[in-house]
Amino acid sequence: MAMRMNFNALPGNGMTSARTRARMIERLKTQGITDPDVLTVMGEVPRHAFVDEAFAHKAYDDNSLPIGHNQTISQPYIVARMTELAIDVPQRERVLEIGTGCGYQTTVLAQFFKTVYSIERIGGLAKHARERLAALGVLNTRLRHGDGSRGLAESGPFDAIMLTAAAPVVPEALIAQLKPGGRLVFPVGTDAQELRVIEMTPDGPLESKLEKVRFVPLLPGVA
Ligand code: SAH
Repeated sequence: MAMRMNFNALPGNGMTSARTRARMIERLKTQGITDPDVLTVMGEVPRHAFVDEAFAHKAYDDNSLPIGHNQTISQPYIVARMTELAIDVPQRERVLEIGTGCGYQTTVLAQFFKTVYSIERIGGLAKHARERLAALGVLNTRLRHGDGSRGLAESGPFDAIMLTAAAPVVPEALIAQLKPGGRLVFPVGTDAQELRVIEMTPDGPLESKLEKVRFVPLLPGVA
């Protein structure tokens, strides 16, 4: 985890949020998150800095929260779970996130991978995330405003690709952008959604179906 940052000096990142984050970590453990590095990073990244001030007091609750433009920051459990799945790869050089949103998951990934590429289709969110990450000093990210549904072939192949919006069907085209041993972590489905992983094994792509989830939809085009 060469890129691990120290967020302690940030304004508003005092004892209170340290304590609420510690409670969040205890909850994540009871929910089945076991990777010690994921628990450490979730305890360090200041989630309250990624939501509107009006919601900052709820930032460490076990909920998704609005981030504007009808979108949400995923609940801490799902960020931790998807991170655990994405970092279980042979190398952690390059990860692609599709759906930057507020940039929280981007920042968590940036503690594990050398470079995080992240694409967001809504211009206002992409701009805000760019400003927020710069202010926080999260420098190993390459953010883009665009439609990420076809991935980012020119910057790949990737050690991991994560969708943070639900694809209507399995995004087959992204599998070609994975390195050998690489992993695609994604929610799929419309009404009923499921978290899945496709791992690029020597015998070809291997799909695992995991738990039921609830994400905003992956949408085509830019806004
Ligand atoms: N990882 C985010 C979650 C944001 S919600 C966070 O931590 O805040 C999912 C995001 O995916 C939304 O911001 C939505 O606008 C974006 N999205 C949906 N379809 C997309 C697409 N085709 N390309 C890029 N981003 C997309």
